Amino acid sequence: MHNYAGNIHIHSTYSDGTGSIEEIAAAANAANLDFVIITDHLTRDGAHEEGKYGRTHVIVGVELNQQANHYLAMDTTALIEDYSPEPQKTIDEVNRQGGFGFLAHPFEKGSHLVTEGAAYPWIDWTVSGFTGIELWNYSSQWKGKATSRWKIFLWYFGDRDAPVKTGPPRQCLKLWDAYTREKPVVGIGGTDAHAIKFRVGFYTMEIFPYRDLFHTINTYICLPEKLHKEVPVARKQIMEALKKGNCYICFDRYRGGYNFYFGAFNGSEEIPMGEKTKLKDKLRLQVKAPQRRSYIRLIRNGELICECKSQHLDYKVSTPGTYRAEVYFCPLFGRRRPWIFSNPVYIEG
Ligand SMILES: [Zn+2]
Ligand SMILES: [Zn+2]
Repeated sequence: MHNYAGNIHIHSTYSDGTGSIEEIAAAANAANLDFVIITDHLTRDGAHEEGKYGRTHVIVGVELNQQANHYLAMDTTALIEDYSPEPQKTIDEVNRQGGFGFLAHPFEKGSHLVTEGAAYPWIDWTVSGFTGIELWNYSSQWKGKATSRWKIFLWYFGDRDAPVKTGPPRQCLKLWDAYTREKPVVGIGGTDAHAIKFRVGFYTMEIFPYRDLFHTINTYICLPEKLHKEVPVARKQIMEALKKGNCYICFDRYRGGYNFYFGAFNGSEEIPMGEKTKLKDKLRLQVKAPQRRSYIRLIRNGELICECKSQHLDYKVSTPGTYRAEVYFCPLFGRRRPWIFSNPVYIEG
């Protein structure tokens, strides 16, 4: 398998971000990202700037809906109007155009100190037909916890990732586990990068710059073959991997997740995360963490079934179910932290 790092959910000057696509691509190159996905609010105006900039593929999606039920849509062909109160229409229209999408920051909370408490959670849980869920969103999680001026100051200038280091919201993982027991639902991570700028006297301050957020919550794709040299073919490979869930989320600030592996082996056949297989005699699941000091947890149908402090985990499967892996980063001193979240392997009876 070949792993590639990407940053999803980015706003540019085509909506309320402050960076041009060229500037975002430069920041992504500096962070060694293989791809970025720009998702401006209700516009695909940046689509003509898609392409490869240095090592980074720039792909343009869109963030649909305004008041609530934000939906990150990829591979759409025409602009879709604001269906905030009826998000099933949004999902259906994206699918009709041959695209796919993710429920964005579904449990977002507001803070009275940020944009007057505005929050845009997913509200309508009767929907179906979506591809996946954005499980971990840097900016959204930060905002929700920024409930006092002191916290904001101490976190931003002292321990900037503190509100996010706790991992994806519990209720988000719980919901995802409930969905994936029934059918495949892809989990991704995003930063919701805006690189907000404001003036303090003569000085322009930029908070959460792209170049900083590109080292935080990234989504890696796993491909059986390397990314193709031809840009449109590579773009298709990236989109297919995200759509199928051949991907995992990594909090890159600790260490890049290139060397992570999770998959099933069925004799000689390999089943990558995101895919289904039948329970057979010789079926094993394997997890490999990117570094020796790691803590691995294996989860079946939302329940922890196996955990160990190790770089590798090998598990003989005897029960069908939805299996996913989590890796915690173990620093030399201090407590272990949520680091990598795989998509599931679906094992049928
Ligand atoms: Zn949003
Ligand atoms: Zn957004």
